This record gives sequence, structure tokens and C-alpha cells, in this order.
Amino acid sequence: MNQAYIGNVVFGKTKIKGLFDKKRIHAPQEEWIIVENMHEPIILRELWDTVQQLMKSRRRENSKGEVQMFVGLVKCSKCGSSLNVNFDKMKSKYTGFSCWVYKNYGKDRCTSHAIGWKTMNQLVLEDIRRNAKAAKLAAPKYKEMLIAAKTEKKRQETEKCKRELKTVDKRIAELDKILNKLYEDLALEKVSEERYQTMSKGYEAEQSGLKERRNKLTEIITRAESVYENIEKFLPIIKKYTDITELNTYILNELIQKIVVYEKTDNPDGSKSQRVDIHYKFIGYVEMEEMFGLPMVMAMAKDVEIDDALIAEAKELAKGLAR
Ligand SMILES: [Zn+2]
Repeated sequence: MNQAYIGNVVFGKTKIKGLFDKKRIHAPQEEWIIVENMHEPIILRELWDTVQQLMKSRRRENSKGEVQMFVGLVKCSKCGSSLNVNFDKMKSKYTGFSCWVYKNYGKDRCTSHAIGWKTMNQLVLEDIRRNAKAAKLAAPKYKEMLIAAKTEKKRQETEKCKRELKTVDKRIAELDKILNKLYEDLALEKVSEERYQTMSKGYEAEQSGLKERRNKLTEIITRAESVYENIEKFLPIIKKYTDITELNTYILNELIQKIVVYEKTDNPDGSKSQRVDIHYKFIGYVEMEEMFGLPMVMAMAKDVEIDDALIAEAKELAKGLAR
């Protein structure tokens, strides 16, 4: 659908193929530049989003008419692009994911970041259930844990940001005064035009750098302070999913913001590990160590089921939390 319907203007839908090949090709959607609200929208934003999501899913239907439920959610940890989903036409089923950039541009730009469909399914399903169970069975403790995980580490960082913000604000005000004084001196011919130019340029550069820093700091502080509100929003949603046995598009879209897949790493014993970070809506990524004292890195020598012992252990811990 044309983005102009909702007032957006899109740049960069096509690009030049290469340095020596000036043919224009379609750019991946991730590379589009969308400038929002350039003109009055023709249809409502929410409606457009819903229709867009449905169309996106429909486009990804396989030959059986199934929707690829992870569409748009799985990202590469290195380059940030979406992982491509691989479909086995012969068997008519999804087999796994790999980095879009790697597939299209090769190893100079990224690595494969490959992960199996089954593994991804199980990882996400177990993680949702683990969180849902803890949220339902041990609500106060689970909430406490989330708050701790989302704030404790950040508290010191936030305090540091607040202190820095004060210093930055003070210096910005000082520079205002200096610049005014300098201008006055110029007007009173106490400094030469040339000297004024050199000096004011330096101060102005410093000030604009500080203003950028101020925006960044304010953003960090605001984000840290909305933690409680977001946890309250997240709890009723996650609680619904204690007993799910399989995932679907609706569950994934309601709960998950993105899933970040890391490259496999070699363990000393010859096996491989792969880190997968599940970022939930409202609360983002919560490290498993902080939740249950368990690492989220799963042993994945082959594309097989997650270690049952690990799941059992997590479930025991969740039960323990309920007491
Ligand atoms: Zn990548």
C-alpha cells in the first residue's frame, strides 16, 4: 500500500546496484527512509498499520497458505537486519533463519547467524511459558524481580546520567553568557571581527555538542523512569500465556518486540552455543541470569530440542518462587 495514504513520504525504495553498475534495484524495506506525517493522512494511522501487518503476513504465506508467524521479529545481532526465513519447497515447511545482509552481500558484510525453525519455536515458546508461569504463580516476586532486573543495574547508571546532565546544563548556560559577552565586546570594538569569529565558532561548536549530549541523557533518564509503568502494562498480557502449547502470529505480535539472534560460538568441549535475546514489548530484554539464575545461552550442538534438564530446572525454580 502506498505510504502516502497516511501522510508518510518514503525515500530510497530503489538504489544503485553497485559502484560500477548503475542499474537501480529494489532496496530492502529496512533501508527505506520514511519521513512521517509529511502531509495530512488520507486514512487513519491505526487502520493502516493493521492492514499493513495483515498484508505482510499474507505475502509470506507458504504453499499451504500458512503464515510465517515470526515475520519482522527476528533480527541479526551484528548488522541489525531482519533474518530471512528459509522455506523448504519440497517438504513445504520452514526450516530456519539466516541474516538477510549475509545472504545478499556475503561474508564481507555479515555472517550467517543461522538458527533452525524448530529451535527458534521452542526457545520462544519456553521463554514465554516460563515468564507467564512466574507472573501468574508468583506475581509479587516476579514483579519484584522484573523491577530489580530493569532498575538495579540501571540505577547507578541513571544517577550518573543525572549528575552529568546537571554539569552539561550548567556549561550550556555559561556558554550562553560567554557568547553574549563576546558579542558585546565585538559591538564595543573590544575585540576584532576576526578574533570574534574564531572564538565564537569554538564556543558554538562546544555548545551544540553539549545540547546533543543533553538530549541523549534526557532520553536515558526518561526511559529508566518509565520502568514501573511498563511492567504494570506487561504483567496482565504475559499472564494469559501460562499454558500455551504452540505459538501463533497473534501471540508473537502481542508479546514480542524483537528476537535478536547472535552468531554461534565454539565451546571448549567442541560443542556450540548460540545466544538468542527475546525482547518483550514494554519490558524489553530481561537477562535470564537475573530471572532464574540460569544463563540464556543454550547448548546447541545440533538443531535439536532445548536441554530438558534446563527447562525442568527453570520450572522448579519458578515453582519455588510461588512458595
Ligand atoms: Zn547480519
